[in-house]
Amino acid sequence: MEPGTNGNGRYERYHIDTKQVPDIVNWPTRFTVKVGKIGLAKELLSELFHHGLKNKEVITSRPCLYGVFSGPVGGFAPRPEHCVGCLRCTTEYPDYVTVSHNPERKKLGDSYFSSNFIDTISYEVEHGMIPVKGAGYRGKFGGEGWDGMWTDMSEIVRPTRDGIHGREFISTVVDIGYRPNFLKFDPKGRPIGSTPRVISIPIPMFFDAPPPSIASELIWKITAQAAQAVKTLAVIPLGAILEHNLENEYIIPLINPGEQDGLDLFSSAPLMVEMDGWDERLHQHISHTFPESLICLRIPFSTPQELLGYNKEGIFVFHFLADYHGRSTDGEFVLDSIRQAHTTFVEAGVRQEVTLLGSGGIIAAEHIPKAILCGLDAVALDTPVLVALQSDFSGECADRGKSQFVLPTKLTLEWGTQRLMNLTASWRDQLLEISGAMGLREIRRMRGEMGRAMFMLELEQEAFAGIEGYEAK
Ligand code: SF4
Repeated sequence: MEPGTNGNGRYERYHIDTKQVPDIVNWPTRFTVKVGKIGLAKELLSELFHHGLKNKEVITSRPCLYGVFSGPVGGFAPRPEHCVGCLRCTTEYPDYVTVSHNPERKKLGDSYFSSNFIDTISYEVEHGMIPVKGAGYRGKFGGEGWDGMWTDMSEIVRPTRDGIHGREFISTVVDIGYRPNFLKFDPKGRPIGSTPRVISIPIPMFFDAPPPSIASELIWKITAQAAQAVKTLAVIPLGAILEHNLENEYIIPLINPGEQDGLDLFSSAPLMVEMDGWDERLHQHISHTFPESLICLRIPFSTPQELLGYNKEGIFVFHFLADYHGRSTDGEFVLDSIRQAHTTFVEAGVRQEVTLLGSGGIIAAEHIPKAILCGLDAVALDTPVLVALQSDFSGECADRGKSQFVLPTKLTLEWGTQRLMNLTASWRDQLLEISGAMGLREIRRMRGEMGRAMFMLELEQEAFAGIEGYEAK
């Protein structure tokens, strides 16, 4: 079905149904709240004396608006799971209340997918909403990796659009497939030669195949069902599709060389087939078995010569892989690798003909528009899906094949599916916000739009080069 239509060809505004889905694992709380009992007792007595017993409930819940002090015995047994770290209590009662970061929480994730990212995703998948930090941002405004890239939201040179509140529609539809640079027609006006072959998905994100350490029927079903619910795609190994009978139009089979015979068991042609590494025989077999399906090549970020070579062999859709920490095989960060791949096809004059997908190291809502500005058409979500499902990281999880994750034992199909729907809804809303702020009315136009991107190192170089004490990095 085309995005934006309801199956009868009538327009229907795209929408993801969100629902509050609480955690199933009690992760350590973000903050620890300690209250001096004598100080609290004195305060309560003083309040009771001034306001009387009829306001008992209000008095015993003070000073927290979030319910940390509202348990059966009030602040004598605080409930840190409700604490949002606003610090009102420590400001009002500095003598006997202390709030600090919980060191146990910091142990979640690993050095790249740190607990800060996990906190954000945790809120997004529980509520399906954009996390709002009313106290303002107090962190750094630059840094390594994605933090070294900023987006230009100047209102002076372009209109601010309004996507999320619906007064002006911003399209998040993206196309995957092949579009020839030119169309040719015969004397009767019929197209001849290469014609466009694309599929459109309503959001520039889809679900990548989860790592081998958590491969199971349940995880495949969760990603397949979530993809169907939000009308995007889920990449699933061919063996798992056949073993668990998972076929649906949103599933993209991932095929290794040597597995091609399994394709013959499909009842209908998939929209796209993903080849795990280049193999000429496999490519020919897929083209022959399902001539109408798109073929995507899943490879690490490669050299310009290799990419153009695959393109000459007839590959128009690429799915690039960095490791889970966003590093490609040559050690480059994914941001630079995407820019290089995009530029390769731009300089060869065929960028409009190819689709670039990518995964690895894209772990926050803001990374999606940044990856698209750098040149991707869409992003395949990997570790964010695992965090949404409250998986544990066993040590550092960078290597795609060797990383060990542990899924919660209470995981269910319904819970997992809704968490992934909430994740995509929250990230789409944030995409609308940033597109609106940049004055872009569709995500297709965001791809490779470097006019909206700024890089910290380049700006520093421009501003400080030649000044004593400045060292270019
Ligand atoms: S920091 Fe804020 S949310 Fe946390 S206990 Fe204190 S008042 Fe409540």
